[in-house]
Formats: sequence, C-alpha cells, structure tokens
Amino acid sequence: MALPDPAAQGPAPLPAADVLAELEDLRAGDLPTHGGRTLAYVYDSGVAEADELGRRALAMYGSTNGLDPTAFPSLLRMETDLVATARRLFHGSDGVVGTVTSGGTESILLAVKTARDAAAVERPVMVVPTTIHAAFHKAAHYFGVERVAVPVDPVTYRADPAAMAAAIDDHAGRVVLVAASAPSYAHGVIDPIEQIAALTSERGLRFHVDACIGGWVLPWTPDAPAWDFAVEGVTSISADLHKYAYAPKGVSLLLHATPDLRRDQFFASADWPGYTMLNSTVQSTKSGGPLAAAWAVVQYFGDEGYARLVGTALEGTAAVVAGIADVPHLDVVAQPDSTLVAIAADETCDVFTISDLMLEQGWFVQPQMGFAGSPATLHVSLSAATAASVPEFLDALRTAVGTAVERGPIQVDEGLRAAAEAIDPATLDDAAFAGLLQVAGLAGEGGAVEAPAQMAPVNALLDVAPPRLREALLIAFLDHLTR
Ligand SMILES: *Cc1c(COP(=O)(O)O)cnc(C)c1O
Repeated sequence: MALPDPAAQGPAPLPAADVLAELEDLRAGDLPTHGGRTLAYVYDSGVAEADELGRRALAMYGSTNGLDPTAFPSLLRMETDLVATARRLFHGSDGVVGTVTSGGTESILLAVKTARDAAAVERPVMVVPTTIHAAFHKAAHYFGVERVAVPVDPVTYRADPAAMAAAIDDHAGRVVLVAASAPSYAHGVIDPIEQIAALTSERGLRFHVDACIGGWVLPWTPDAPAWDFAVEGVTSISADLHKYAYAPKGVSLLLHATPDLRRDQFFASADWPGYTMLNSTVQSTKSGGPLAAAWAVVQYFGDEGYARLVGTALEGTAAVVAGIADVPHLDVVAQPDSTLVAIAADETCDVFTISDLMLEQGWFVQPQMGFAGSPATLHVSLSAATAASVPEFLDALRTAVGTAVERGPIQVDEGLRAAAEAIDPATLDDAAFAGLLQVAGLAGEGGAVEAPAQMAPVNALLDVAPPRLREALLIAFLDHLTR
C-alpha cells in the first residue's frame, strides 16, 4: 500500500496550548460578548459566576447526545425541568408541554411546521403582523406556507387586530397559524395579544406568541400586558434561553398548550435499516451542552435573580429613553414595552454613520433598515450588564451624533439608486453579483469580498435598495465571504 505523499499532507499536529492560544487570538477580532457594550447579538448578566457556571456545564455536557433521551436521562430531566419552569412563569395549565430547541428560529420553525401538518390543508397560510421576526419568513419558505403580513399601527408599531381579523377571514379555511410578538425585535413593543387571541379562539385557530426575546423578561416586568398562557387562545409560545435567561448560545423553548397541539411536531422514521429515528426537533444528534448550561444558569439565578436582572435592565432602558430625549436629532421610535429600544435620527444625520461612530468608541448598536413606513433605526437590546454604563453610552451617542451631523446624511448616488430599483435580482448570475458587490462597497478592488471597515455607505445603499435586492446582495456577499 502506498503511503500518503508527505507533501500532500496537512499541517503537523499542534500542541494543545498552541491551539488554545490561537483560539484566544481569533476571539480578539470578535465583538465582545461581555462588558455590556455589545447591544445586540449577545446578552450579558454581568454576573461572572453565572457565566463561569454556564461555561462549565456546557463543557461537561458538550459530548452528550440529545438524540435519545433514554440513553441520556440527564438531558430528559433537565429538559422537563426547564419546560416546567417556563410553564409556571408563563401561567400554563398542567396540560402545557414543551421542547428545548437550539434557538428561537428552530422554535419558530417547529411551531409553523407543527401547525401546518396538523391542519393538513391545501395552500396553507399564516397571518402575521409585518413586524413579526424574519424567522417566520424562513419557516414559511421552508415549509411551503404562504405568509400574509398585515401592516401594523403606523404610530405604535403594534399589530392591528381588526386588520388581522380581516386578513384571516380573507383566507378562511387556509389559515394554519396566527402569530404575534411579545415584544417585537425591531421596535420592542408588545402586540395586543388578548385582542388577537380573542379572534383566533373565536375562529378555532392556533395562535403563537413569539416571546423569544421577552420570555425571560416579561414575567418580571411590572405592568406588562397579558401575553402568555394566561390569555385564553394562546396555543404556543417560543422563548429563548440564550437571550435574557443569560445562558450560553444554542438554547430556546417551544411550548404548546396541550399535547394534542404538539403532536405533529414529532418525527419518526422506521423506513431504513438503522435505528428508528425519533425526533422532537429539527436536529437529530444534538449536543446536551447548551441545555445543561441553560439548566445550570436558570437554577443559579432562580426567580429572585431574574427579578433583579430584569429590574436592572428595565432601569437601564428607561435611562436610555430619558437620555435620548435630550440628545438633539434622535428619537425613540416607540416607547419600549421591555428592554429593546429603536432609535431614529432626523434628516440632519444618518443612523448608519452613527452606528459606525459608536463602534469606533467601543459600542455596538445594530443598524436596522427602513421598512414599510418604519424609518431606519438603531437597535439596542439592554442587558443587565449595560445598565450601569448608560451615562457613558449616552455620552458616546452624543459625540457620535455631533460628528454624524457634521458629516451630514449619506447621499446615495441617484444613478445607483435608480439602478438598484431597476435591477431584478432573479436575472443576475454569479459574475453580475460579483460586480454589484464591488459597486455596493462589499468587495475590494480585486473582487475580494470582506466586511468593510466603514459600514455606513454600504448600509445607506442597502437601505434604498428594494428588499428583494437587499436580500440577494447580502446572500451574494455571504456566499463570496465563505468561499
Ligand atoms: C431572536 C429572536 C428570534 C430568533 O431567534 P434566534 O435565536 O436568533 O434564532 C425570533 N423572534 C424574536 C422576537 C427574537 O428576538
């Protein structure tokens, strides 16, 4: 037998210490996950002991496999514990059942798939407000469900129950699911859950409340409107533990009001020569690490801990809202119902420039494009760890706005804007996309694709591009980035 050609072999094995050092180096280029200055993507309790506990649980259970709960009863136990906790917090009756998933998107995918399969109608439809999380768009796309997006109230950005009722009745017999947010990601407001539930229960329809981001906040939010299983007619709820439960990434909950409602979530296949596949989630083999880490962190904080963390995050949010009232040229788009704030700028400056300038000062705020009457904004998710540094955040924001006003709003070239509106992304091939990425500033001279240091010009251009083109360009960007 010929030995492998040494020249064709990969790099020599590395000592563990060197590998760890390289991992550390790689992390240095990322957004910080702790310190409270990254105001999207990550959630920071500011409690070092909880972080350490989560990391240890993650490592301890990283190799376990949730594929078969009879082989790893520890995972079954922790899953039922977390579901029981959520059932209690969300005012569920004894009938409520749930599943731990890998994230909000998986919880939502499963809620939609389950509803579609249970209804078994031709041309299934889901009725959602335009502010519903894009994970529902993904679910609609994956599972062949038509998405009917109903405009929200133009002032409050909350779902409009009368308009939703009309949309439901326009698609009578085909609606498999109605969904709303508690709160919405983009504007941080809670949809009128009670009113929507009244119209879905009257019509015998499923109603999913997306509490991915609010699920571990609202139970401790004073004066939160009713949003959970206390509301008659709510049939399922998604709640992410890797957001405000402050667990490491990779864990969310999907709860159904009864086992009957959940039945179609499961999948089994005995039609092959291997083990009978039996799954409650999209993943089959799955690490027990994120589940164990979430279980550990939820035990550690308990209701008392979360009440304190939520109180802190809410105080921080109120301080941000109050502070912005004193920052010229900025406004909050809607009075937040929990810990999320959407900030808009007037015509003298540009949120995309502000976002770049904030990053230069060590703060990440997430740009959101204008959409259907909602202006371009900066998204801020307030973690408990951020609350103490809100004054510094506001100082940085004031500085950024001052500079952004000096620079003036970004003017997108008229020709480019017209071209963007005329392009049909469906007609573009790989080479055309490569050219467009260069025009958009997402590729350098030689065509090498990389994230630009200054995102503002790119974001401003994407902001004027129709949503379909925006999607296509960003897909091309990711496609090239990962080649
Ligand atoms: C984060 C979020 C999701 C999606 O969750 P992922 O964990 O990112 O997959 C869905 N809905 C809302 C309201 C969210 O905030």
